[in-house]
Amino acid sequence: MRRRTDCFRTPGDMDSQSRNICDSSVSEQNSTNNRAESERPPSSEEQEREETSDEFGDLFELPVEITERRPTCLRCGRPQKVCLCPFLPARPLEVNTRLYIVQHPAEESRALRTVPLLAASLPPGKCTVLVGRRFSEERNPELGAVCRNPATLILYPGPDAVNLEDVETDPLGTTRTVVIIDGTWSQAKDMFHRNALFRMPKQVQLKSSPFSQYVIRTQPTNMCLSTLECAAAALAIMEKNQAIKEQLLRPLRALCAFQLQHGAQVHDSKEQLLRTGRYDKPMPKNKRKIKRMERLISSQNI
Ligand SMILES: [Zn+2]
Repeated sequence: MRRRTDCFRTPGDMDSQSRNICDSSVSEQNSTNNRAESERPPSSEEQEREETSDEFGDLFELPVEITERRPTCLRCGRPQKVCLCPFLPARPLEVNTRLYIVQHPAEESRALRTVPLLAASLPPGKCTVLVGRRFSEERNPELGAVCRNPATLILYPGPDAVNLEDVETDPLGTTRTVVIIDGTWSQAKDMFHRNALFRMPKQVQLKSSPFSQYVIRTQPTNMCLSTLECAAAALAIMEKNQAIKEQLLRPLRALCAFQLQHGAQVHDSKEQLLRTGRYDKPMPKNKRKIKRMERLISSQNI
């Protein structure tokens, strides 16, 4: 598995000296970042599988930031010098829907993560983050209960998914929970298919995905959205309030604008690059990878 080095730490890793946060009124509990027990070192078989399933990983390479520890803002998870808190909602957004983000471990160490921005915009308890690759009812009883609840939905597109727009938002006044998988496209696919828990909730998808605004990270197709964008779109539908989406996306726009000002390049999606002949990575030798790329160009389901 490919891991990137960066300067980021989770709030729990910080020593007391670095807790000089820009917004001391916000506690860490916004993001319940429980590391799942399932994150044991992968076996060689798993590593091999991970490498093949992460074959588009090169496309998601991000600028590697310096490894020296810098003071990090506990609210937005960004280095204090580039803190995005001014772009977050002044107060956590009032929502009825609960989000459950199951995050691939590689995602947690990325330099540019969108989930902390999401967690910082929502009230405590409305956005739970669980890190891991394999989950089960025995090891993750809370997640098991969430997945068993008939009011829970999982946002993962596919032929069996119904459009979120067509789902009753609050059946009999119960609170809906939406499970979202946070990882690259291939990591999310692997996590969805290898965890039986994730096939228990009703599967939903976003009918109309606008092009990703997260332009500094190459997305595999034009319709792929970052986790923050997915969550923002889903919450706007569930809460019947489009303003929520705008408020949640504001820090993402600011983050992209900042990165672009500092030398990041706009990344077209891989689909766009392949279609317009601007894909400049060495072509893969592996037949399966070539087939996948061909299917990507012809926009078939992969
Ligand atoms: Zn901040």
